[in-house]
Amino acid sequence: MKSPLEVLQQYFGYDNFRLEQANAVENVIAKKDTFVLMPTGGGKSLCYQVPALVLEGTAIVISPLIALMKDQVDALRVNGISAAYINSSMSSFEQNETLHQLKNGELKLLYIAPEKLSADNGAFLKFLEEIKISLFAVDEAHCVSHWGHDFRPDYLFLNGLKNQFPQIPIIALTASADEITRQDIVKQLNLQEPLVLVSSFDRANIKYFVQPKQSVIHHIIQYLNEHPNDSGIIYCLSRKGTEEMSNQLKENGINSAFYHAGISSVERAKVQEDFIKDKTQVMVATIAFGMGIDKSNVRFVMHADLPKNIESYYQETGRAGRDGLPSEAILFYSGADVIKLRRFALIEGNEEQSGLMLRKLQQMADFAEMQKCRRQYLMEYFGENHSGNCNNCDYCLSEFETWDATVDAQKLLSAVFRLKERYGKNMIIDFLRGSKSVKITDYMQSLPTYGIGSKNDKNYWHNLIKQLLINGFLEESNEEFSVLKLTEESNLVLFKHKKVSLQKIKEQAKAVTVAEMEAEYGKNEFTENLDLFDELKKIRREQAEKENVPPY
Ligand code: ADP
Ligand code: MG
Ligand code: ZN
Repeated sequence: MKSPLEVLQQYFGYDNFRLEQANAVENVIAKKDTFVLMPTGGGKSLCYQVPALVLEGTAIVISPLIALMKDQVDALRVNGISAAYINSSMSSFEQNETLHQLKNGELKLLYIAPEKLSADNGAFLKFLEEIKISLFAVDEAHCVSHWGHDFRPDYLFLNGLKNQFPQIPIIALTASADEITRQDIVKQLNLQEPLVLVSSFDRANIKYFVQPKQSVIHHIIQYLNEHPNDSGIIYCLSRKGTEEMSNQLKENGINSAFYHAGISSVERAKVQEDFIKDKTQVMVATIAFGMGIDKSNVRFVMHADLPKNIESYYQETGRAGRDGLPSEAILFYSGADVIKLRRFALIEGNEEQSGLMLRKLQQMADFAEMQKCRRQYLMEYFGENHSGNCNNCDYCLSEFETWDATVDAQKLLSAVFRLKERYGKNMIIDFLRGSKSVKITDYMQSLPTYGIGSKNDKNYWHNLIKQLLINGFLEESNEEFSVLKLTEESNLVLFKHKKVSLQKIKEQAKAVTVAEMEAEYGKNEFTENLDLFDELKKIRREQAEKENVPPY
């Protein structure tokens, strides 16, 4: 018997197992049930392909992605592995031929579509009783659960699998993270004390950036001039958008092509192949592009338009850096995109679906607008903990600059001084800004410091107070309520001309926020073009057929 590592190196040409692959493989080989939760692109396939080659008999792989079955089987055959598939797109002659091979024990792996399970009242499973089977792999296992986002009734035929084949290990694999679905899968498949392996969703080699959506084409051209050898994908929302952008790039001497569901399948296959073989540097595409495309050296993924939710964003950016090398994800963001996508969410789907789409869209907008580590946000979204600083996102890498805060510090400290160190932040700020609040007495209004800070807003003063506290230019005493007090340092500033230098995040171009757009246009009055709407609907349908991810 070959060792798993030998199989990995000899048949697949990889040096080492990744993430939880080794544990999964070992457990399956020990004929025990296994549950694998791993992000898209994490490498779930090898978790059953390697045991299939180590163990005797044929591995039966149930997969709903009919369009990808052929690619997977072809890839295995190229590696010298005898594999085949059965699905409804084949003639019965072809199917019989494959069944014949199966019966003769000529196959190491057989991929089957779920509808094959239910056909003729489960005749296929009955047929399998005469075959030597090494393992069952249930790929995209969330399809067995009503809780998952893509329930397939045919998967229910897997309920009886364990009873019918108690000795044969089952490995269930999914990238669907939530806990209810997870438990339900184990129950539905009747897994026996499964080893549950959860890999982190963190893609540490991807650097996350959000940029204002302004002069997008200009930024992209500049980026490509700086990265002349890097290959990548640019996602646009509409078909027209992809064509326009690709043409503009070409006019600027960049080797690009476009891809969307509206071009012929022959053309699509060619465009895709050119990209995979590095004949095309940049692919400008709608979300129709990417699923099942196995190109490991994608160095960047850009979003010229906002994805509809974090799941899509994460999946699309996840196509960068599958080889583990440093890669970049760049989102061009404007609140205007949120308003536009809200319209689609309202038009499509029933009330409940629309509500869910809107919530998810809002989370996408929050990701782009929040001042916090992008990776931390993503990991929390997927239910993982991540400490605050990843050092590999625009927020964590933002540069700090020193600025001279002396004048404003003098204003603030003199307010504290004039009010005899008897008040808290809010009162000091009201006083500085010349507020007419009832708490401000006539006497206070007569003081020279009253109103000298009116040029800056409350937020600004709150931040300055925070910074001065951190740097020892102020103290906060906690008596009944908190009161700002002067320190020795502040006396130096007030009376001895000491300078105050503070740090702040370097001013970056700021994206237009949803709130700003709403203020300008009102909540629902944004007009979008219908082209786009049609494209979304078509993509939705095609996507649902082609892959396992709901459009929303
Ligand atoms: P998933 O099904 O989890 O989305 P795949 O099984 O399709 O992921 O694998 C994604 C990519 O990762 C493929 O290109 C695969 O060849 C590659 N890959 C998987 N495991 C390894 C490994 N141990 N070393 C290098 N590359 C790997
Ligand atoms: Mg997979
Ligand atoms: Zn970060």
